[in-house]
Amino acid sequence: MTNIESPAIKRIALVAHDNMKREMLEWATEHKEELRRHVLIATGSTGKLVADSTGLTLERMRSGPLGGDQQIGARISDGGIDVLLFFWDPLEPQPHDPDIRALLRIAVVWNIPVACNRASADFILSSPLIGSPYQRRVPKY
Ligand code: PGA
Repeated sequence: MTNIESPAIKRIALVAHDNMKREMLEWATEHKEELRRHVLIATGSTGKLVADSTGLTLERMRSGPLGGDQQIGARISDGGIDVLLFFWDPLEPQPHDPDIRALLRIAVVWNIPVACNRASADFILSSPLIGSPYQRRVPKY
């Protein structure tokens, strides 16, 4: 095993499926001031929605079904994302289900915190670790 440092200013990825976008937007609005202290990355439509409604600055990838989930996954493998907030839809299948599975898998491989619902996102954002450097243990491949 080896350590990788997640910096104090976290690079947080936001992804929400269509039926979960309202939830993500409400959550991001509620936590706008905390989120402003970090660097935000998002899939295309989620990012546009959050940016337009909250004024937060986000780096936007492609839309999820067009490769955005894979771009986020690649960024995680490159050490460029520290936290994944992924509100996936538990009630409807998605055309890009394989990408979703791949994204969740790669987040676990690289041992980054993942929130798949609003309560988990609350817990992560309120953790003292969100504002301090954190040494992630990752396998030495
Ligand atoms: P979107 O992608 O933000 O572009 O809608 C999210 C997803 O479906 O993975």
